[in-house]
Amino acid sequence: MWAEQWSGSPRQARMARIDKSFPFTKFRTILHRLSRAQSSLLIQIRSGHIPLNAQLYKLNCIDTDRCLACADRPGITSTKETVTHFLFDCPAYQNERHYLDRALGRHNRSLEHIMTKEKSIRELLRYIGSTKRLKRTHGDVTPSPQRGQRPINSEDLSPDN
Ligand SMILES: [Zn+2]
Repeated sequence: MWAEQWSGSPRQARMARIDKSFPFTKFRTILHRLSRAQSSLLIQIRSGHIPLNAQLYKLNCIDTDRCLACADRPGITSTKETVTHFLFDCPAYQNERHYLDRALGRHNRSLEHIMTKEKSIRELLRYIGSTKRLKRTHGDVTPSPQRGQRPINSEDLSPDN
């Protein structure tokens, strides 16, 4: 049981500051309703141990911690590819993020908050799936549409909508 191995680890102490109830409450219940790939990705996001360049560079797996998705854009100062950059800031994914913002509210940039709601978590997974950034490591993590939820179409991604 990962919860038992988790208990007492330094990582748990660090997580405890983020959410005192982790991992025994809502978040864990939600994880059970998701696929293995989806829940392991969410756990990685929460812990910051996600295979984005900032983390891979720290582990000496790659030569740069920069985000390559937006590195070559004119006027963009290259940025570390952190979880926050990938999810909320990277200009290369602004079309995908437009849908996320609409679903969660543009002000909602709190991972802590997102991780407590199944609906928000599914939107986050849908965003990550649509960027294809982690497809190689995690496969397609896009959740299947829930009842009453419209699938993404090009209208939803239009900035004027
Ligand atoms: Zn970027």
